Amino acid sequence: MPTPTASVLLHNGLLIDGTGGDPVRDGAVLIEDGLIRWAGRTADRPATTATTRRIDVRGDAILPGFIDCHVHMAAPGTAMSHAEIASLPHSLLTFLAGPRMRQTLEAGVTTARDLGGADAGHRRAVESGLLVGPRLQVAVSMLSPTGGHGDFRPGNDHRPNENAMGRLADGPAECRRAVREVLRQGADCVKIAATGGVWSPTDQPDDDGFLEDEIRTITEIAAGHRGKKVAAHAQGRGGILNAVRGGVASVEHGYEIDDEAIGLMLERGTFLVPTLTTARTDPDPGKAAPWAYAKKKHWQDVAHRHIPRAIERGVRIAMGTDCGIAEHGTNLRELGHLVDCGMTPMGALRAGTAEAAELLGLAAETGTLEPGKRADVVIARGNPLDDIRALGDPANILVVMKDGVAYKDVEGLTA
Ligand SMILES: [Zn+2]
Repeated sequence: MPTPTASVLLHNGLLIDGTGGDPVRDGAVLIEDGLIRWAGRTADRPATTATTRRIDVRGDAILPGFIDCHVHMAAPGTAMSHAEIASLPHSLLTFLAGPRMRQTLEAGVTTARDLGGADAGHRRAVESGLLVGPRLQVAVSMLSPTGGHGDFRPGNDHRPNENAMGRLADGPAECRRAVREVLRQGADCVKIAATGGVWSPTDQPDDDGFLEDEIRTITEIAAGHRGKKVAAHAQGRGGILNAVRGGVASVEHGYEIDDEAIGLMLERGTFLVPTLTTARTDPDPGKAAPWAYAKKKHWQDVAHRHIPRAIERGVRIAMGTDCGIAEHGTNLRELGHLVDCGMTPMGALRAGTAEAAELLGLAAETGTLEPGKRADVVIARGNPLDDIRALGDPANILVVMKDGVAYKDVEGLTA
């Protein structure tokens, strides 16, 4: 593992620390041994030693490293069809994840939650320094009822489900076993299918997935394993309600969210992760099967009509993209999409930092530039509060630091 420089002062930046406080012009951040020691106005900085490296950020923005709460590192983005993926050896699919992880980090994402496909090995490869990528939380594979979103068998296939994306379970008893199985394999969180989906062949996004009793069983078992949280793939309104009532921490996609679900989520503090990056990626008629193409177009429109209402009413939003289904490395485009749906630029930045850290249970470690947190820092060109979309272009992400180590530095600022 590369070791961080002992003491670094980033100064002359536009500091946006992730707390939601006003941006600080002539801001600075003091980093020591991979942790934030201090952040504020350069003029107020604590005494530094002769060995502190001073780095002039030249007026660009200093931001917390971003957190993507919904990725699939094992999935190829839009580059391959499902048939192509199914034809590749598992080892090759794993090797292909390596460059994607680096690409994600270089897009400004220092922490990511993989909601199906990546396993504990992906996480450990990053922790050990074997691969360069964001700090990972993994769900290993999605739990799904038979014929649900984790069941990728076509209707005429009667063999057992062997798709790594989904582990099938029906009824609370099987759900108990399935959740214990992914926890045994090292899952940091649990992913469930509370509705059908766009890419699964035999269901619809407004079909129910797991029912409330199954979901409650899963959330209780996960909570009993050091408070692990459950993320629910939920697109149609009925399944969204089942998921929220069953106690999940986050509704993923939530395309058909309505006032009833919004009210319940506000009451319980349930997060919405709208994955607009994927919702707004047009399907490729050359790659998507006709049935999938039609579903995708319809549900894009549903999302477009429903998500702004959830934002308007103040549901907690955490940034997640579904990159792996959408193109890897485009993660921070989500911020612009959130603003298009009614968030303020500052609200979107917080959805991608402090709020996302809260959802992942990492608020004590990352998500803001406050003393004692890990030095996960992004330096981005310009002022993202004036032009949030600029962050979506990785060329504007100049420096990416994780735990005080610069993994990307296009202009050699830290060299
Ligand atoms: Zn997903």
